[in-house]
Amino acid sequence: MRKFKTESKKLLDLMINSIYTNREIFLRELISNASDAVDKLYFKSLTDHDLKLEDEDLSIRVSYDKDARTITVSDNGIGMTAAELEKNLGTIAHSGSQEFKDETEKDATDAIDIIGQFGVGFYSAFMVAHSVRVISRAFGEDDAHVWESDGLEGYTIGDAERERHGTDIVLTLRENEEAVDGEPGEDYDRYLSEWALKDLVTRYSNYVHHPIQMMVTKS
Ligand code: ADP
Ligand code: MG
Repeated sequence: MRKFKTESKKLLDLMINSIYTNREIFLRELISNASDAVDKLYFKSLTDHDLKLEDEDLSIRVSYDKDARTITVSDNGIGMTAAELEKNLGTIAHSGSQEFKDETEKDATDAIDIIGQFGVGFYSAFMVAHSVRVISRAFGEDDAHVWESDGLEGYTIGDAERERHGTDIVLTLRENEEAVDGEPGEDYDRYLSEWALKDLVTRYSNYVHHPIQMMVTKS
């Protein structure tokens, strides 16, 4: 297992210890990353005339499996090599990371503001998931790799299969939490419905210019 960098670990701790309560923004963050990955491939196709994109390359898919309690966000965008999985998901990459680091040195309330302001990126997946698997194949590569983590200390990277370039982010949701002292517990199962996921897409991802497809439900 490889260990997270210190600043990544701080952010993960904050999110997992639910200081920031708006957990449902995880889907917005994952869809925004999928959209960036599709954009990167699209821009490549403008200069690389051998690169022919199909319609399905330019869309984002969201699916869920109620029995396995997973939510998957997939794209056929630019993908990541093993080295990119390590670099991009092993450390905080988003633009607010330095401010975030400075603020966490102050106190937690400020940290919440920073999270709200800049977006939390990929790690927000751990607000709802107890484990996250990222299967990715970089454009132009034959091999795929899988990055996997429980968001605590570190992550692993191994070999995987993927038919084409692109990325699947598979979240295994946390168990629902019991109510404590009259405070309702966190309900993660509520995301496992087509209605709930569509609602999140409508509320948070309306600006995304690629089509977002909802895959057929498994009951
Ligand atoms: P940001 O999007 O602000 O850069 P994130 O934490 O959301 O920060 O993502 C970190 C990095 O991981 C991204 O910059 C990108 O390089 C990589 N990444 C995340 N999701 C994907 C994806 N679906 N396809 C390709 N690269 C991705
Ligand atoms: Mg992002």
